[in-house]
Amino acid sequence: MKKGKEMKTFLTHIRKSCKLVVLIIIAFLLIFGIMYFLFRPMYAVRLNGQIIGYTDAKKQLEEKIGDYVKAGDGENIAFVEIDELPEYEVIYSKKDIEANEDEVFDTVIATGTPYYKNYAIMESGEEKMYVETFEEAEKVIADLKAKKSKNANSITYVVKYSSEKIENSKVDQVVSKLYEKPEPKKSQKTTKTTSKKSSSSTKYYTPTGSVNTSQKVSFAKASLGVSLSRPVSGTITSRFGRRSRGMHTGLDIANSTGTTIRAAAAGKITFAGRKGSYGNMVVVTHANGIQTYYCHCSKLNVTAGDTVSQGQKIAEVGSTGNSTGPHLHLEVRKNGICYNPQNYLY
Ligand SMILES: [Zn+2]
Repeated sequence: MKKGKEMKTFLTHIRKSCKLVVLIIIAFLLIFGIMYFLFRPMYAVRLNGQIIGYTDAKKQLEEKIGDYVKAGDGENIAFVEIDELPEYEVIYSKKDIEANEDEVFDTVIATGTPYYKNYAIMESGEEKMYVETFEEAEKVIADLKAKKSKNANSITYVVKYSSEKIENSKVDQVVSKLYEKPEPKKSQKTTKTTSKKSSSSTKYYTPTGSVNTSQKVSFAKASLGVSLSRPVSGTITSRFGRRSRGMHTGLDIANSTGTTIRAAAAGKITFAGRKGSYGNMVVVTHANGIQTYYCHCSKLNVTAGDTVSQGQKIAEVGSTGNSTGPHLHLEVRKNGICYNPQNYLY
């Protein structure tokens, strides 16, 4: 009997303390809820010391600004030079302060200098006219050659980044302006040798596979988990990173046309063939989402789907695409983002 009674008081005790715990939890939740609604954490965005707005999505805003600085608007603006990036400061604001990311973005962008991308058509090293795209620049040269314009061999083009917007011309306008009547043929022998010389230059390969050519870069030294060996020997003519003409997403190694290019590591060919300004290119996909890109090749020895071992010949050095001389443009990518090849090679 006595034992049963003790048990009963003990149980009521437990029940009471349970209720108390539940009450405390509810009280805490209420307090936190109210705090969250009244004082949610936000960021004040400062530029040159001045608050230019507020955001509660710092990461997205930073990325949006970063992308615009690096890659422009994806159309005519190639990149933007900004003196100072904004700073973010945590504030516990009352709810009446509103986030205004769009205004912040516009303010930051307005302080920058946009660089426009054009292709300058050059005659004997002098800028003559401008077109908007790489394809148009190629077409100008091809058309002048097809029409046997006297100056066809001294016409080239370069990518031009300038802080002022340049008026572009249409392909036909450029061709008719630059066209020069050919001299009458001297003898059949000389015409034959010259035509042979000019036709030996470029062969383009039909693409197989697919390739991501986004220009995202990272200056971090990511660990690859794959060890790379040099695909080609030669002189480094351009390093990875920002140059006066924009972002260089790889490393340029110059060597003569026909020099063997070897796979930097074992992997699978996921692209081979012509790709715009890259010319003939090969992409080897390795383990861990690592890829290596080999561009401007004169000859390709593989097609998509092939597996290759480290050091295996995959292509030959050339100057196809947007290139001014024979060299290998090598890119090292992890999950699509370009990293400095010199962190791992050369
Ligand atoms: Zn390059």
